[in-house]
Amino acid sequence: MTIEEAQQSVDRWVKTYGVRYFSELTNMAVLTEEVGELARVMARKYGDQSFKAGERDNLSEEMADILWVLCCLANQTGVNLTEAFRQSIEKKTRRDAERHRNNPKLQKG
Ligand SMILES: [Mg+2]
Repeated sequence: MTIEEAQQSVDRWVKTYGVRYFSELTNMAVLTEEVGELARVMARKYGDQSFKAGERDNLSEEMADILWVLCCLANQTGVNLTEAFRQSIEKKTRRDAERHRNNPKLQKG
């Protein structure tokens, strides 16, 4: 599935099952909530916390939740994520072409 297909799938789903998009600000709050859910899993899986009884490692599910609501926000604000992501890679390449290679903190010991 391409990013464009993901945006289209989300749009079809919302119009078929969701009645309409939540408002942009509501989806911004939902995005923040989902990022928090990912942070909780990361803290338990890679950090110093441990999973509580009944919790499970659903890292991929939480990442997909973030992608879902990001697609919602892109659709309702007219953003083409494919083009935006292409531009983001170009920007990072222009800006950071040498930066990380020259960072001694990133060199293997
Ligand atoms: Mg979630």
